[in-house]
This record gives sequence, C-alpha cells and structure tokens, in this order.
Amino acid sequence: MIVDCHLHVGTREQWIPEGLALAADVADPETLEVLERNGSAGPSMLDYLRAQEVDVAVAIPCGRESVQEYTLDEAERSGGRLLPFVQYDPRAEPTACRRFADAIDRGARGLKVHPCSTQLPANDRSLYPLYAVAEERRIPVTIHVGSSVFPGAKLRYCDPLLVDEVACDFPDLTLICAHAGRGFWTDQVFNLTRMRPTVWMELSGLPAKRVPQYFPELDRVADRVLFGSDWPSSPPISRLAKEFRALPYPSSMIEDILWRNAARLFSLPTA
Ligand SMILES: [Zn+2]
Repeated sequence: MIVDCHLHVGTREQWIPEGLALAADVADPETLEVLERNGSAGPSMLDYLRAQEVDVAVAIPCGRESVQEYTLDEAERSGGRLLPFVQYDPRAEPTACRRFADAIDRGARGLKVHPCSTQLPANDRSLYPLYAVAEERRIPVTIHVGSSVFPGAKLRYCDPLLVDEVACDFPDLTLICAHAGRGFWTDQVFNLTRMRPTVWMELSGLPAKRVPQYFPELDRVADRVLFGSDWPSSPPISRLAKEFRALPYPSSMIEDILWRNAARLFSLPTA
C-alpha cells in the first residue's frame, strides 16, 4: 500500500502559472499528459494514481486565492482515494474560520499553510483561530517547511522554530512539516519531531536516495514520518516509492513510512 501525503490537485485554470511551469520542467510524460488534459483533476488523475500504485493521497490545492476549498469536490468524487486539505489566507478572508469548520463538515481532512509564498509565518496570530478549529476537530495542519523555487518565496517564513511555537501553543494539534526542512533545516525538523510528540515530518520534495544522509537517525522518529511526492513537480510516484523501498531500513519501518503511519493518522481502512 502507498499513501502519498503530499500531492497537488486542480484544473488548469486553478493552477498558478509558476506551478504548471515547474511541473512542465520536472514531470515525466505520463504526468504531463494528465496536466495537459485539464490539470490534475478528475478521472484521469485517479487513473494516474492507480497506475502509480498509490492507494490514497492527500490532495492539496494549488492556487493562490485567499480561499482554496476546491479539493473538497474533487475528493468527494474520488471514493476515499483523495484526502482533501484546504487553505485560507485569514488576512483576506474574514470568514476563514467558519468556512474551515464548514469544510471539515464537508470532508476536509487537514489544513495547509504555505508561509513562504503567502509571507504569513506559521506563528502569525491571524492563523491561530484556524489552528484552534483543527485542534478541536482533531485534524492535522501541514506547514511548508523548506526551500521553495517559486518567485517571491521568502524562506525565512519557513523557519521550523515558528512551527515549534505553534506546537507549544496548541499542544493537541498535529503538525506536519512538509518537505522535512529541505534545504537549510533538515536537522531542525528532525530534532523538532523528536522533541514534540505532536510534530510529524513528511518527505515530499526530497530525493529518496538522500534521506539516510539528511536524517541519519530517522529510525528514532519512524512512527511520525510520512511519505509524499509533491506531485506533479516530482518524479513518478511509483519510482519514488521504489527508491524508498530500496533504502537500508528494516522493512517494517519502510512500510510505516510508506503508508502505515498515514493510515493511523487519517484512520484509513487498511483491510
Ligand atoms: Zn507542494
């Protein structure tokens, strides 16, 4: 089983142009075929996931509007294969909190925060009411923690110490560090995950082969590490999973990271 904890969905008009340009640069022909049709949406994307042997995927919206809930419709049609995350900019959307609570009622499984592109750090107090909703409803928050090649992305907003502050202030909130600190902060994210039992690290956007080098003691946090691709800006997901399976880890740890941890986190049926 494979659970991809980080992929992006949206029809072509929903995508930010830089996102499509990046995917066009790095994606394989099958991915480009999916994107060219109508973006990463609809049955062709589900067919692609099936072909890549991905059973379930966290679906993150790919636009830049203040409210991004379109993953909910996409997920509803996926028969449980997509776990929709939603994204709000509380500075531009005064009703973000109420919308978030409604989105959870409609099936949202998590909140995504992208500090470097929105220039809204994870510890900004405008996000706190959203975190309070996520904590109360027991759903995770994924925060982009790591480098970004998008124009205008200011990296200091992605400092993992800002995530630590949120972890302190919301002790029952599950926080997922997307990209595990890629670039400057892999050590910090590892240490944060070790220290804070509510913090998880997610490996999307990292070359699988380098994971042991970036995280020499990954086994110490192996019950809170998640596999992810960042598709469509990634190699084919099945290839990533294959490379991950070839790493010198015990097979139980590999299966934990590829799907079992996510199945526990999202209460997925595993039979
Ligand atoms: Zn991403």
